[in-house]
Amino acid sequence: MSQPARLTALPTPVRDPFSGRWPLASTVTDRERGPLPHGSPGAVLRRTAEVLGEPRIPSTGVGESAALDLVAGLLDQNGVDLSHPHAAAHLQPPVLQVAVDADALASASNASMDTYDSGPATLAIEHWVVKSLADLAGFGPEADGVLTPGGSISNLLAVLIARDSAAAAAGVDVRRNGLQGVERPVVFCSELAHFSLQRACAALGLGESAAITIPADENFRMRTDLLADELAKPGRTPVAVVATAGTTDFGSIDPIADLATLARAYRVWLHVDAAYGFGALFSERLAPLLADLPLADSVTLDLHKIGWQPAATSVLLVADRTRFSAFDRSVDYLNPADDIDSGLDGLLGRSLQTTRRPDAVKVATTLTAYGRSGLGTMLDTCHELAHAAAARVIADSNLELLAPVTLTTVVFRVAGQGLEASAADALQGEVRRRLLTSGRVLIGRTKLPAGGGRPAAVALKLTLLNPNATATDIEDLLDQVVATGLDVLTGEGAA
Ligand SMILES: *Cc1c(COP(=O)(O)O)cnc(C)c1O
Repeated sequence: MSQPARLTALPTPVRDPFSGRWPLASTVTDRERGPLPHGSPGAVLRRTAEVLGEPRIPSTGVGESAALDLVAGLLDQNGVDLSHPHAAAHLQPPVLQVAVDADALASASNASMDTYDSGPATLAIEHWVVKSLADLAGFGPEADGVLTPGGSISNLLAVLIARDSAAAAAGVDVRRNGLQGVERPVVFCSELAHFSLQRACAALGLGESAAITIPADENFRMRTDLLADELAKPGRTPVAVVATAGTTDFGSIDPIADLATLARAYRVWLHVDAAYGFGALFSERLAPLLADLPLADSVTLDLHKIGWQPAATSVLLVADRTRFSAFDRSVDYLNPADDIDSGLDGLLGRSLQTTRRPDAVKVATTLTAYGRSGLGTMLDTCHELAHAAAARVIADSNLELLAPVTLTTVVFRVAGQGLEASAADALQGEVRRRLLTSGRVLIGRTKLPAGGGRPAAVALKLTLLNPNATATDIEDLLDQVVATGLDVLTGEGAA
């Protein structure tokens, strides 16, 4: 059977031995275009409606090739191009072509991870992937893991396991009876922890206010002394201490060893949210940042960040595999006991999902293709780009560096000398929006928390995850930020 044209036209997944450029995928063919389409969100909606017509399922189709061409054209002209060297907003990397090809294989198999007969090979591949990642993390043979649809869900599953374990210690079976009888359950995390922890607390019936946020120090790391004070307070049931290894904005890494000591002293679960930072382990140079990871009871990691995988590719690792019993479930039509006794078991008992994609296929392919050193080299390149960007920011009086570089993010701002705080904040937002709607440059923004006598401030952010970008690309990107900042300040070229 012949393939639709668009699929046979996929670029080669092989690294060019001469240029050394990584084979990254993109749906955008126009190399002159910037990372985003020019114009407003409304224009993208209109162009899409023009191509697909009224939002009504057509009664007869146009055929496969025509449909693929229409959709490919939309992604080409109106989509994001993360392989563009001026795409630097989010922890959403360009993806490796080999992972995209492997993911198409995974889709074509339509295997599922819940039962043995839903996909024997892909179950074995997931086993290989989670064991390999647990080994990289420094865990022992008791460790295991599960692929999840994202870091937010990995965090949710971790807090669920921790919640049930803290309640069990208090004599309560939460799964059966709910939280009644557990005195004010709380989760401790840094003020810079990812918001998915609050959402996890809400979803798990603890309430968002159960997430007690601990202030960070001047290096954006959780203050252990303040955590100790909080842990000592009576009248609460500590469920988990959550360390962030690679805060989303700053890449800062909480003091895992100190947090582990405190968690042990209070017999509390230690979860490390390494959604962003885990990939540091691929790099010989950056791996020491995560040397204390084996002290964790569970770890979240996202290979759709540092890992260059298409989403979704998150993993929850657990130091002791028996802790997955929080998800055990016997279902007559999926995993009857006599089948399990015969070895016909799937992974239903590791997840809240039933049907679950074989996301491990692209990971196994990528790790096999490039090895640890390949991914380490990609990360080292991005890390060096971040240092180059920070050096340029420091050297430019129009810009101001707001945080040290730890991994691959650079938090800075356009210097609004003499501006009121609110006007300086508005300047950052306006610069980012103008660059974004021009389509030429895509950078991030965030808020620097108040601290050290300084009020909170809006900041710009580069998240550098393109290993094919060069220092010149980053120079050029920052030139455009500066020029746009000056335009805004002088009232020129208003959108
Ligand atoms: C990105 C991120 C998450 C959320 O991960 P998703 O895959 O987007 O759900 C959680 N924690 C940290 C520290 C992150 O950077």
